[in-house]
Amino acid sequence: MQYYDRAETLSRQELNALQTVRLKSAMQRAARSPFYAAKFKQAGVTPRDIASPADIARLPLTVKAELRDNYPYGLLAVPREAMVRMHVSSGTTGTPTAIMHTQNDLNWWASLMARCMFMAGVRPHDVFQNLSGYGLFTGGLGIHYGAERLGCLTIPAGTGNSQRQIKIIRDFGTTALHIIPSYALHLGQVIASAGIDAKELTPRIALIGAEPHSEETRRRIEEMWALKAYNSYGLSEMNGPGVAFECLEQNGMHLWEDAYLAEILDPDTLEPVPDGVSGELVLTTLCREGMPVIRYRTRDITHFVAGECPCGRVHRRIGRITGRTDDMLIIKGVNIYPMQIEEVLMGMPEVGGNYQIVLESEGSIDQIKVKVEVKQEYFVEDMRALTGLQKKITAKLRDELLLTPRVELVEHKSLPQSDGKAKRVLDLREKSE
Ligand code: AMP
Ligand code: ZN
Repeated sequence: MQYYDRAETLSRQELNALQTVRLKSAMQRAARSPFYAAKFKQAGVTPRDIASPADIARLPLTVKAELRDNYPYGLLAVPREAMVRMHVSSGTTGTPTAIMHTQNDLNWWASLMARCMFMAGVRPHDVFQNLSGYGLFTGGLGIHYGAERLGCLTIPAGTGNSQRQIKIIRDFGTTALHIIPSYALHLGQVIASAGIDAKELTPRIALIGAEPHSEETRRRIEEMWALKAYNSYGLSEMNGPGVAFECLEQNGMHLWEDAYLAEILDPDTLEPVPDGVSGELVLTTLCREGMPVIRYRTRDITHFVAGECPCGRVHRRIGRITGRTDDMLIIKGVNIYPMQIEEVLMGMPEVGGNYQIVLESEGSIDQIKVKVEVKQEYFVEDMRALTGLQKKITAKLRDELLLTPRVELVEHKSLPQSDGKAKRVLDLREKSE
C-alpha cells in the first residue's frame, strides 16, 4: 500500500498526542480573534483546560449564524494583511459566510487535497479535469491546487458547456475527473445522446462530492462511465474539499484527524453518539492559522464507521452524508429526507439522471410531488406502460416514505439542470404569515 503522507499511518496514540498539541495551539490562535476571545471568556475556558482531545466538550460550539454575524473580518486571528484568499459558503441567502486563508493555510489545504487524491488512486501522470465552478465556490481552486500539488496535468475546465468538456476529455485523454454527481449523470447522458459510449472514454477515476448523493447514484456513475467514483466531503468553513475522502475500499470517508478534530453529536442533546449511530458532524480546525474555527456545527448528518480500515490508515471514517439537520421536510406530519427519495429513484433502471421534489399547498395541507425524468428508451407513447411505471415508482416511494407522493413522469432532459450543486427541492407552499 502506498501513502502520500506519513501522517496517514500514525498510530492512534500518536494521533491523539498530535491532536492535543494542535488543539491547544488552535485555541491560542483562535483567542486572538475578537469573536473567540469573547466566546472563550464567556465560557471560562483556556488552553490549559485541554489535556486530551476528549476535553473538547468543554469548549463552546460555533454555529453558522455566528460566522454571519461576525462577517466579514470578526473571526480573523491574524491581521487582515496576512490573508491571501477568500471563499464563501454556498447556498446561503443574505450575508454569506466568508472564509479567509493565509498562504500557510492554502499550503495545508493543497497538501490535504493531494493526500485525498492520491488515496483514491490519482497519480502525478494523470490528466486531471476539474469540472467545478472556479469562483467563490471552493471546489474550483481547492481541488485545482491539490491536483497541481500532486503533479497532475490539471485542466481548470469549470462548469457547464458539456460539448467542450467532452472535447477536452477526448483531446487530452483525461484520466481523472472532479465532478459534481448530478452533473456526472447529466454529462453521461449528453455523451450518450451524441452517440458516444462514455465507457470508451479515458477517465478511470472520478472524484464526486460537494452535494448529497446516494450509493445508487455512485453506482450509476461508475457504470455509465466505466470508472471508479470516490466520495469527497468538505465544507467552506473547514477550507472546502479535503476534509474527508474515500480510499480504494469505498467504505466510508477517512477524515483527516491531524487537521480536523471530529465529533458526531446527537443534535438535540449535543452528547456524542456511539459509532454507527447517526448524528451531526461537529468539526474543529487544528492547523488553520488565519481563521480558526472551533467546534463548528456542520448540520451534516453522518456516523462514525466502526472498526479499522483494511487500507491501513488510522484516521476515522465517516459514512456517506445522509442529509442535513436543516433539510428535513415535514409533510402531513411525516419526516422526509430528500436522500430517501433519491435512493429509491436511482435504484430504478427506467429513471433518468434528474428529478425534482416540489412542495405545494392545497388548502392548509402540504403536498409532495416528485417529478421524475424517464430515460429516453422508456419514455414511450404507450400510455399503459407509462402509467404502469408511474404506479411502480409511487409504490416504491410510498414504501420508503410511509406517505404517498404524487409522481409525475417527465421527458429526459426536461427538468432544470444546475451548473453547480443540484437544487432538488422546489418549495411552492404558501407561507402563512
Ligand atoms: P459549501 O458551503 O459550499 O462548502 O458546501 C458544503 C456543504 O456541501 C456541506 O456542509 C454538505 O452539506 C455538502 N456536501 C459537501 N460534500 C458532500 C458530500 N460528499 N456528500 C454530501 N454532501 C456534501
Ligand atoms: Zn481506508
